[in-house]
Amino acid sequence: ERKQLHRLRREPTRTVDGVDIKLYANAESREDVAEAHALGAAGIGLYRTEFLFLQRNELPDEDEQFRAYRDVVLGMTGRSVTIRTLDLGADKADRTGLALRDEPNPALGLRGVRLSLARDGLLDTQLRALLRASGYGPLRILLPMVSSREEILTVRALLKHLAGELRAQGHEIADKVPLGAMIEVPAAAIALPGFIGSVDFLSIGTNDLVQYLLAADRNNEALGEIYTPLHPAVLRLIRDVIRLAKARDKPIAVCGEMAGDSRFAPLLLALGLNEFSLHPSTLLELRRTIRGCDLATLQARAPALLRARDRTEIERWLLAQAFP
Ligand code: PEP
Ligand code: MG
Repeated sequence: ERKQLHRLRREPTRTVDGVDIKLYANAESREDVAEAHALGAAGIGLYRTEFLFLQRNELPDEDEQFRAYRDVVLGMTGRSVTIRTLDLGADKADRTGLALRDEPNPALGLRGVRLSLARDGLLDTQLRALLRASGYGPLRILLPMVSSREEILTVRALLKHLAGELRAQGHEIADKVPLGAMIEVPAAAIALPGFIGSVDFLSIGTNDLVQYLLAADRNNEALGEIYTPLHPAVLRLIRDVIRLAKARDKPIAVCGEMAGDSRFAPLLLALGLNEFSLHPSTLLELRRTIRGCDLATLQARAPALLRARDRTEIERWLLAQAFP
């Protein structure tokens, strides 16, 4: 069984009816990047940069960040690499003094791109490092916790300014460094038609999207099955975001835990998803599941899935997708 999975490292992630699905890896260390490469990931779909800022007292400077990002790009040998700007907040114990202490509601507080924009120089330094790394291979920049169009426009203007500055200083930067937004705040999903023209790609963060949409703390075990992506509101919102992204020709992935859980693959395929980003540890299993799925059949059954009225009915739909 393990050996069979191992053999899938070199196989395409192709459905029974011949459609190629892209599997990207979530990573936050050198080891993750090496594993993603070995497993034949299409690239890195989510590189979390928080670890660079945790368990230390001083902020990483531009050069240190540049080297870390460049190494990810080089490690993936020409495959696409999506690096997320810092997603720090009072929910993560940083010692650098960046995040606020004792926020009453850290999940609703100054985190992600909000914190990056609020701290002098923090975003400039990270973007400069990222732009410099873009000279070494295909790199995309992803913003976490976006809730408004202004955040994207502000970062885009800053990127343009910094790229000009760096070029003038003699740095080699890619001609185009795509800028994308995480869709993990419900407001961003709902207001997407108003700013999709300002992003180059999207990535749905279901961990937070489910948390905020269902008003259910992602870390609160007392909530049990109340915290679940198997809710009609979640499915409908994911469907709408995917549909709009496709209509506007913007690449769209799901990068939350949901994408790495093979049980949910038929559902995400039915909703039109063709890019998954997941931890390397379940990548081959997901590839095997997708290779057993018939995409046309699943998509024909999407209306029934969207008619499901509750978790039980969604689970019943999933059970009925009996692919080997
Ligand atoms: C998410 O929210 O789904 C996500 C991928 O980001 P994180 O888990 O880092 O918040
Ligand atoms: Mg998130």
